[in-house]
Amino acid sequence: MERPNGFADANASLEDAQFVIVGVPFDRTTSFRPGARFGPDSIRQHSWNFESYDLETGIDLADVPIHDLGNAPEYGSATSMADGVREELRPIYAAGKIPIVLGGDHACSPPCVEAYPDGGSLGVLYIDAHMDFRSSYLGDPRSHACSSRRIVEKVGAQNVVVLGVRSVSKEEMDDNRSIGMAHVSAHEVFREGIESAVQKALNMLRTDRIYVSLDIDAIDPAYAGGTGTPEPFGLTPRDVKHAIDMVAPRLAGLDIMEVSPHYDQGNTSAVAARLAREAIVRAVATHRVR
Ligand code: MN
Ligand code: MN
Repeated sequence: MERPNGFADANASLEDAQFVIVGVPFDRTTSFRPGARFGPDSIRQHSWNFESYDLETGIDLADVPIHDLGNAPEYGSATSMADGVREELRPIYAAGKIPIVLGGDHACSPPCVEAYPDGGSLGVLYIDAHMDFRSSYLGDPRSHACSSRRIVEKVGAQNVVVLGVRSVSKEEMDDNRSIGMAHVSAHEVFREGIESAVQKALNMLRTDRIYVSLDIDAIDPAYAGGTGTPEPFGLTPRDVKHAIDMVAPRLAGLDIMEVSPHYDQGNTSAVAARLAREAIVRAVATHRVR
């Protein structure tokens, strides 16, 4: 079988594509252990493991127009990375396409949201073990520890829900309460089940379109330990699949961040690749994809 470097079944030209894969190999704001810059290519590599046909929806990914734009260049700072990623994504949204962004550390997500056209109202489902709500971390407001806060500044606190959180500082909680960003914790998911937890989040996100930012550490390290800041008591891959399934009819874009492939045997990259494929087939099955 031919094993090119791109994402599997991404056979369309950019012009014809409905979905555009973009890699951002940037991990300079990682706070614990680095390596997420290797995430995009590892996720691509593992994408070749899967059949193009999807059992649940009956959709064949080989028939879906997907283009892999490749990786963004390497950047020396989070600020220059953010400028570059916004430039990369603006024309994708403007053409009515859905970006699927592979990171990279979670600092790569805010520019993906900031690139969304002005005037469009966008909700964000932010799936993460961490709240990422610091105003600045180690002197850098563009750190991956600040990403939900930067996103709130773009779309408004009422349009962001953090799902799967189980690690937060007291200061972040205080800020969170005063600013008013909602969350549904991993503990609530465990108690009430993923369906009701996601429904609760979706009831709060009243926008027509929803962007999903997935920090892979939302998933329990038993399933996805290949990440920079692993946190026990997490979601299952199936929980996250279900969340993506439920959002798919309104999907505006997806990112999958913080896959750091050198810390496991490929399990985390495989989960990430499969979730990206899941989002695409579900969006095609349920979305008014043009
Ligand atoms: Mn994060
Ligand atoms: Mn995290």
